[in-house]
Amino acid sequence: MTHLAVHLQGVHKRYPHFALEDVSLEVPTGTILGFIGANGAGKSTTLRILMGLVSHDRGHVEMLGHPIPDGAIAAKTQVGFVSEDMKLFPGATLDWHMRFVAKVFGGWDAGYAAELVRRFDLRADQKIKGLSHGQRVKAALLLALARRPRLLILDEPTTGLDPVARHEVLGALTAAVQDEERTVLFSSQNTLDVEQIADRIAFIDRGRIVDADDKERYLERWRRLRLTLPDAAGQTTLPSAVAVTATGRIATLVTDRHSDELLAACRATGATVQSVDRMTLEEIFVASVMARREEVAA
Ligand code: ATP
Repeated sequence: MTHLAVHLQGVHKRYPHFALEDVSLEVPTGTILGFIGANGAGKSTTLRILMGLVSHDRGHVEMLGHPIPDGAIAAKTQVGFVSEDMKLFPGATLDWHMRFVAKVFGGWDAGYAAELVRRFDLRADQKIKGLSHGQRVKAALLLALARRPRLLILDEPTTGLDPVARHEVLGALTAAVQDEERTVLFSSQNTLDVEQIADRIAFIDRGRIVDADDKERYLERWRRLRLTLPDAAGQTTLPSAVAVTATGRIATLVTDRHSDELLAACRATGATVQSVDRMTLEEIFVASVMARREEVAA
């Protein structure tokens, strides 16, 4: 058993107006990795490189132990990939697609497929062209999930789904890794999804991985501190942080290195720590991207 289901090391890809730079990513077998980033950050490009759909300029890419792109065909027999631009045949029914996928790929689980039809509230005899956007997304996910692949790679799997459908899809993804031999890598702008089901988080911004960690450890590192300063803002030098905003003697400090030492350093300036709050992944995402943009603009 390969310990890493996905391994990218120092991957570069240059487009005329965008570059993936030195992207390294590890997804251990049996885990769910949530791949987060703003619009245009490079999530889809990374996933396409992994699937051998886009060639990388430099770096090492491996999927289920197969080097990519050379081993892409062998790897893909055990990979379920769903992305927004995947097309199903409009004139064929979901049932036709299920029979087609069952014939082409091994491992089709007809019982599970029938259960997903019910759970995703689909009709097997309905033609694809008659499905709504959300129903199409669910149909594509069903076709990937019911193959019981060792690795699921999903590009924005919950975009356009209603809350009930999202709940069903996230439940199916969690169930997919329960035997500890299957792995899920999914990109999302929906931080709630990632917070809910991911074991690990990788965060990409402007073509670079800016952080990757175990989810709990990642959330544990971030805090919002509210401080009362000894003097008016600007006269107290606070420890370095992701973001500091201050009005009068009240300051808010956002840190990704929360520790007792940081609190002690704040107090050493004469500030009083009024509160230390956990942040949601969404708050962290926004703070992190905004700080990076301000850094670039400065
Ligand atoms: P979103 O969340 O909006 O889907 P993303 O993080 O998936 O964004 P990508 O689709 O990977 O982002 O795109 C990253 C950048 O690469 C974008 O600026 C895009 O314009 C550019 N890009 C992607 N494919 C190509 C291509 N074939 N030719 C030129 N530029 C491309």
